[in-house]
Amino acid sequence: SLLPLFIEGEVVKGFGRGSKDLGCPTANFSLEVVQSLPKGLAPGVYYGWAQVDSEAVHKMVANVGWCPFYQNKEMSVETHVMHKFDKDFYGSNLKICIVGYLRPEKNFSSLNDLIEAIKKDIADAHTKLEEMEAKILKDHKFFNQKN
Ligand code: ADP
Ligand code: MG
Repeated sequence: SLLPLFIEGEVVKGFGRGSKDLGCPTANFSLEVVQSLPKGLAPGVYYGWAQVDSEAVHKMVANVGWCPFYQNKEMSVETHVMHKFDKDFYGSNLKICIVGYLRPEKNFSSLNDLIEAIKKDIADAHTKLEEMEAKILKDHKFFNQKN
């Protein structure tokens, strides 16, 4: 299996498609980082752990692939950190540990359906990350290495 999968890189500007307006900002990795990922990684929504610079490790949900709702042309890895930050962190180092798979990408017929799906993903991630096999990865040495 490809999981758990550890990814690290600088947070870059995304597509400016208003994730923040949906109440769900998603931090993007550069195309270079995304293209270095294992080819077999299935598109979809994943849950795991995230760390901005050397701060605390938080729960996250990440979308991997081409977002059909927005007819994305490029592959992307977009991480929503389940934590309220005081300010944006473009240019920071982001580390994520992808722990498990939640669901495939879907097309949504309305913005409201998309928002409801995101809420469910976040709730599901909360639950799954309470499991012991997930919790031990929060303390993985990957998150202790200084940059
Ligand atoms: P973009 O299109 O540039 O990715 P978004 O609307 O998706 O814009 O917002 C993402 C940015 O919001 C991140 O790069 C980060 O700087 C900031 N941000 C603030 N809080 C969070 C959070 N909880 N999770 C992810 N990004 C966040
Ligand atoms: Mg984004």
